[in-house]
Amino acid sequence: MSGLDWQADGLCSQVGGDGWFPDKGGATRDAKAVCARCPVRDACLEYALATEQRFGIWGGMSERERRAERGRRAAAAARLARPDMLPRTAQRVAAVAELTAEGMTRAQIAARLGITERAVTYLRQRARDGAA
Ligand code: SF4
Repeated sequence: MSGLDWQADGLCSQVGGDGWFPDKGGATRDAKAVCARCPVRDACLEYALATEQRFGIWGGMSERERRAERGRRAAAAARLARPDMLPRTAQRVAAVAELTAEGMTRAQIAARLGITERAVTYLRQRARDGAA
């Protein structure tokens, strides 16, 4: 299956409705329940991640959840790409990436981890470099 061929097999196209694009703060549970049974869920999620879809439920995840997933993947890539990285630094890169994906500001992350805001910037850059 390539391109967007998977969309034809998506359960949302059979079920219909606009539950996949709720208004801000709207319910997503029913749409996610359909996604959980969808045979093309993985392809759908990967497409949404690759194309950085900003709105709606894709592959069973909201935009916020997809952002967190991208952060986890970036942190994992950073760990793999930098075997020379000290374990503690790798842990901090992962933590900063996850907290960033959750929407926390630089100051909030610094306070949470007990590090400086400058260190947060540095660790974000390490995550981006590792994921490149
Ligand atoms: S995973 Fe969800 S959004 Fe994606 S095609 Fe299936 S039902 Fe639709």
